[in-house]
This record gives sequence, structure tokens and C-alpha cells, in this order.
Amino acid sequence: MSSTACPVFIGGEWRRLSNLPTTPVFNPSTGEVIAECPAGNAALVDEAVQSADAAFPAWRDTPPVERARVFFRYRQLLEQNFDRICASISREHGKTLVEARGSLFRGIENVEFACGIPTLLMGDTLENIARGVDCETTLQPLGVCAGITPFNFPAMVPLWMFPLALACGNTFVLKPSEKVPLSAVLIAELLEQAGLPKGVFNIVHGGRECVDALLAHPKVKAVSFVGSTPIARYIYETGAKHGKRVQSNGGAKNYIVVMPDADVPKTVEALSTAAFGCAGERCMAGSTAITVGAAADRLLPTLVDAARAIKVGPTDRPTPQPDMGPVITAQHRERVAALVTTGEKEGAKVICDGRGVKVPEAPKGFYLGATIVDQVQHGSTLAREEVFGPVLNVMRMDDLDHAIELANKSAYGNGAAIFTNSGKAAREFKHHVKAGMIGINVGVPATMAMFPFTGWNESFFGDLHIQGREGVQFYTQQKVVSTRWFGENVGDVWKK
Ligand code: NAD
Repeated sequence: MSSTACPVFIGGEWRRLSNLPTTPVFNPSTGEVIAECPAGNAALVDEAVQSADAAFPAWRDTPPVERARVFFRYRQLLEQNFDRICASISREHGKTLVEARGSLFRGIENVEFACGIPTLLMGDTLENIARGVDCETTLQPLGVCAGITPFNFPAMVPLWMFPLALACGNTFVLKPSEKVPLSAVLIAELLEQAGLPKGVFNIVHGGRECVDALLAHPKVKAVSFVGSTPIARYIYETGAKHGKRVQSNGGAKNYIVVMPDADVPKTVEALSTAAFGCAGERCMAGSTAITVGAAADRLLPTLVDAARAIKVGPTDRPTPQPDMGPVITAQHRERVAALVTTGEKEGAKVICDGRGVKVPEAPKGFYLGATIVDQVQHGSTLAREEVFGPVLNVMRMDDLDHAIELANKSAYGNGAAIFTNSGKAAREFKHHVKAGMIGINVGVPATMAMFPFTGWNESFFGDLHIQGREGVQFYTQQKVVSTRWFGENVGDVWKK
């Protein structure tokens, strides 16, 4: 067995398994294999779920203030180990260190939100719902919850899920992406150091077999999923069929409308970050700019210059850091480049081409340069498919109504943004556009921990979103208690 085999964490014990097939974990900056991820099966999942189930009664009855204290300590440990975790994120995913830091901050905010659990779990009461009868609601945990996460945020997306689920009193089994399992292992080690009892949190690794076992396990009560739309739909349908509560975030294609009155330098800066940040591997990437009227001619020359100036390179060393790192695998790079070529064949114009980018210091890394494709037509492959790479589509419209109409034809509905100086245009846009997270002069309107991550349409399957109070609702069930006391036979003890 290789010493780089990624361990599972079950019942408070770390174990490196030698009896399972593995898949390689790459450092996308260099193309090297840095670890092997075991492909867990139903037996492994059962062990983890049984461990979480056994730990549930004691953790459920741990007072919320004590559960919160674990997360206060956990937050401190995440800060103390911040650089180490960011280095791991950059190494296994390819994010620049600046991007890794930003994503870990966002994850830590979820831990901070979970620290408020004593207040978040407070119920309602109403005295005298009838004479002498009082009523109260309490929020109780569900039991064993599972989290299945994507490759593009190795620490942040797991942190969207387990801190809140655990703070609510549930126990948890995490199945991180088999492409980036190492950072999840690091953040789990710190949970142990924060004093979480054994078995409350568990990690298994693997792909479909492992996921299917979680979806079918009778002791798993709820499943949180983040990943691509076809798998998100499958998780929702299969989980629901097995009687589980499911919140399932899917893929996206987010539109940024640029009005002719938009501030050009600020819009260019925001668009470059939205389209090319994290090499475009973000569910909130602004992957399509819809320019209205003269906006295209005002914007595009500066935008192309900005895209050409983006330095691509390896992210796995502290210095020098590039502006943009690689994409996740060689296969993904080929897919993204092929989509751009298809776009060209369908009549779009590549006005900034990152397909041939060379990175001499890391020739085997999975690199693509920033790419801009102009005159993408509605209905074409590039307009429909989630590209998930550093590619910005440009679609041109004559007026705002048509721009909104075009954005609303998308099958997805995660985010949408407008850049304008007109309050009226912004108001029209936010009122009519069919997406869950809206930016007004904000390119990536991803929500913070206290707000739900409100994808619409095929970007979300379920009822209660991840994060915020909806997250608390998802991880708890309500009990409504109606109380009446009879006093006839106890004498006059309270009479003055
Ligand atoms: P993915 O769907 O390929 O994988 C996500 C998870 O599902 C992984 O843990 C993987 O092991 C598992 N999985 C893959 N195939 C499976 C199958 N056939 N059956 C069961 N499980 C399976 O997604 P990815 O490529 O890791 O991540 C990128 C996608 O995630 C993009 O589409 C992106 O938009 C989306 N995403 C969405 C959000 C959001 O909040 N909406 C956030 C981040 C990423």
C-alpha cells in the first residue's frame, strides 16, 4: 500500500485501507499523482453510518452551548492551521493561494454561524392557545446526516455542511470528492482536536458505489449534495425514493448583464474575476456577459487586454504565485478546449484564446489561459453547457428586456448580475431575472454563511437550501408541544 493512500475516519479512528481499489489524486499544477483515494463500498459506508448512529444519542443530548464550544475551539484551530490548509487546497485543486484563502475564510464563516446554535435552535411559544393550554415548538436533530461534495472547493463546501449539521445535534458522514480528498482530511483532524466525541463525524471516500450506499442506507436521515446537475438530480430522486430529506445543489451558468452606462474599468475588473477567478471552476462563475447596446464596444477591448494579462502558472509553491492556476485534470482541460472549438464551429468568435497557453516551469500541468468567445448565439452548445473553465461567453442584445429574456431561458438559476449606474435598470433586473442570487454591480453574488445559498431551477433540487436559517431547518425537525396541567387534586398550595 502506498504511503500516500488517503485515510478514512470512522468511529474516531484514522485508517488507511489496503483492500480497496483506488483512484489517483493529482497535483494539477504539475500533473503528478500525489495520493491515492480509496473507492469505498457498501461495507465501508455501513461501518461509518453505524458509527455515526451509535454516537447520536449522546451527542443529541449534549447541551447546545457545549456543542457550540466545540465549534469555538474548531474555529480557533482552523485559524491556527490556516496556511497549511490553504497550501493543501492549492496543491490538490490548483487554486491560487489568494483564492484558497478566500474560500477558507468563507468556510470558517460557516463555523462562526454554527457557534450561534443555542440562539438558532430557539423555538416559539404561545401561552393560552386555549384556556390553560400553552404551546411550544422545539427543534430536534434528525440523526445521521451525509454530505457529498464536489472537487471545486475542497474545504469550503464540506464546511457549508457539517459544522451546522453537527451543531444542530446530528452526527455526520462526509464523502468528499475523490479528486480532492486531502484537505477534507486535514479539516477533519482539527475537528477531532477541537474535542468532538468519537463517531460524531466520519469520513469515507469513493465514487458512485459509495454514494449509492449512503443514499440507500436506512439509518441516513438526510443528504446534502453539491456537484453537477445530472448527479444532483440523481441524488435528489434516489435520496427521496429512500425516504430521506435531500438538499442538492447542481451546476450553473450565470449571466452578467452589462448596460451601456456601466463603469468600464470597474466592470472589467469584476468580470475578469467572475469569469476567470478559480480558473472558472466555480458554480457562481460569471460565465456569460450579456452586453446591452453600445456596452460591447465600450467594454470588450479593455476586457480582452485584461484577460491577456492574466498570468497562468503553478499554484503549489508560495512564490511566485500566478494570477490563475490550472484546471482540475488533463481530461477536463481537453473538454473545455473542445467546447471552445465547438463554439467556433457554431459561428462564435474567439477574441482571446487561452487554448495554447504554455507554462514552461510546469509543462505537465493542466493549464488553459483566459478565453473570451464573442457573438455566442442562444441555443448553441457554448450557450447551453456549463463549461466550468476560464471561458467567458459574450452575447449581444439591443435592450435590457431582451437581455433578461435571454438570461431567463437558461435551464439553471444560481446567480445573475447587472452592471449599471441606473437604479431603474437594476430594479427591473432584480425583479424579473429568474435566479436565486443576484448581484448589482457585484460579479460573484455568492451568499455568506448567514444567508441561504439560493439556487433556482436546475441549479437546485430540494426545498431547504444550504446555509443560514434554511440550513438549520434542513438539519432539524420540529416538535410542537401542547401542555395543560390539572390542579384540582393538589390542594391550595399556591393560594395566598
Ligand atoms: P460531480 O457531480 O462530478 O461530483 C460531485 C460529487 O458526486 C463527488 O463527490 C462525486 O464523487 C460524486 N459523483 C460523481 N458521479 C457520481 C455518480 N454517477 N453517482 C453518484 N455520485 C457521483 O461534480 P464535480 O465535477 O466534482 O464538481 C463540479 C460541479 O459542481 C459543477 O457542475 C459545479 O457547478 C457544481 N457546483 C455547484 C455548487 C452549487 O452550490 N450549486 C457549488 C460548487 C460546485
